[in-house]
Amino acid sequence: MSVATTSPAGTSPTPDLRIRVRPATVQGRRVWLECPSWCVVNHAADNPDHIEDVDHKSEQVSLSAPVGGHMEPVLKAWLADWPFAEIGGPQLVLDATGSGEAASLSAAEAIAFADQLVAHAAVIRSLAERLTR
Ligand SMILES: [Zn+2]
Repeated sequence: MSVATTSPAGTSPTPDLRIRVRPATVQGRRVWLECPSWCVVNHAADNPDHIEDVDHKSEQVSLSAPVGGHMEPVLKAWLADWPFAEIGGPQLVLDATGSGEAASLSAAEAIAFADQLVAHAAVIRSLAERLTR
């Protein structure tokens, strides 16, 4: 994360620059912070008063399963970062219930969870293959 540029309060960078940066106010001055490469949020309307509220989010991916004759999302995931909060860097956010309650995982935790998903998928495949025997 780095500060892309600064501008006097009330002014904006060129429109092209807004796609890759987000605004924040630091000590009464508007600053424009560079987004990580995975951030897909258009921050043009953001105006956080506290630097700790600056955030970035990736696209959300979702796994759905058949429930009661329709598809329900059973696992949503996305990347998020609050570069000035004390959370220790970008996180993988998981919402496994659809309730909006989510867990934030570090890179190591996210890779361990992904490995568990792969193992779980192998077990589901094994169960499914028993149906054909
Ligand atoms: Zn961003």
